[in-house]
Amino acid sequence: MRLGIVIPCYNEEEVLAETTQRVEALLKEMIEKGEIADNSFVCFVDDGSRDRTWEIIENLSNQNPHFKGIKLSRNFGHQNALIAGLMQLKDSADALISMDADLQDDIMVVRQFVEKYKDGYDVVYGVREDRSKDSTFKRATAEFFYKFQSFMGIESVSNHADYRLLSQKALNALAEFKEINLFIRGVVPLIGFRSCSVYYSRGERFAGESKYPLKKMILFALDGIASFSIVPLRIITLIGFIIFLFSLLIIFWVLIEKYLLGSTIQGWSSVIISIYFMGGIQLMSMGIIGEYVGRIFQQSKNRPRYIIDKEI
Ligand code: UDP
Ligand code: MG
Repeated sequence: MRLGIVIPCYNEEEVLAETTQRVEALLKEMIEKGEIADNSFVCFVDDGSRDRTWEIIENLSNQNPHFKGIKLSRNFGHQNALIAGLMQLKDSADALISMDADLQDDIMVVRQFVEKYKDGYDVVYGVREDRSKDSTFKRATAEFFYKFQSFMGIESVSNHADYRLLSQKALNALAEFKEINLFIRGVVPLIGFRSCSVYYSRGERFAGESKYPLKKMILFALDGIASFSIVPLRIITLIGFIIFLFSLLIIFWVLIEKYLLGSTIQGWSSVIISIYFMGGIQLMSMGIIGEYVGRIFQQSKNRPRYIIDKEI
């Protein structure tokens, strides 16, 4: 079985030496034991780094035929760098594993990934069982995010980031998802095929700092929700409907005030009625327009309508 490991790197000069050493050792051992083919490889995707990252990658690939590199023209962001690597290499390996450059995800799990692949799984998720090494903030926001996503009706694997194995078949299916703001970990469960998880505990970044500052994290989370769910649009319709019902009660109350109790000043009734009634109608109409916008949005993604596993 020919294995490829894809590692996106953005300004990772501080970690690359260590990472390559460890990955190289692992690859060598697995090849020697016959777990993977001799032509298995590791490919670094340089996501427009401004430091010596590309230089390091170039030197490596000159020294060792197991190392490959892809350099993007500028910084496209983690998800795009990853998809670039996966798509460029999907035809040259039986399966690809994606992992981060900072070794926060235990690389020993690669073995289990390969075993699962050999057991016939097309998608193997690496799931963080223990996040105690992550900051409390990161853990709390992540947990909130997973809960919110499932509230929005999005299927996802909790505590799974982008550490996973995809077989060539799964990669070809992933290639059918042509949307621009691709949130890979949300799309992979939509592919189907046989999948399973392996568990590991997440370590600390051993050098350098996180390339995901808060701002990027928020934008990323927004992608993860807005690319998969039109629930926010539906919420507008719902609120509009509730206000509309409420306005009927208000009308009732205003008419009683005006005609039975006679305690209103001139103009109050018509103003109050129109505020609530029109407010409700307007929000509801926006929600209805939203339903159509939502359909345009989903259509424009051009996602595959089906993916075939086998034909006989
Ligand atoms: N990364 C990238 N492009 C970016 C940001 C990050 O290729 O614009 C890579 C980075 O080099 C690392 C991986 O994505 O290999 C995950 O980033 P990081 O470890 O900083 O994220 P964290 O673990 O803090 O969530
Ligand atoms: Mg990291």
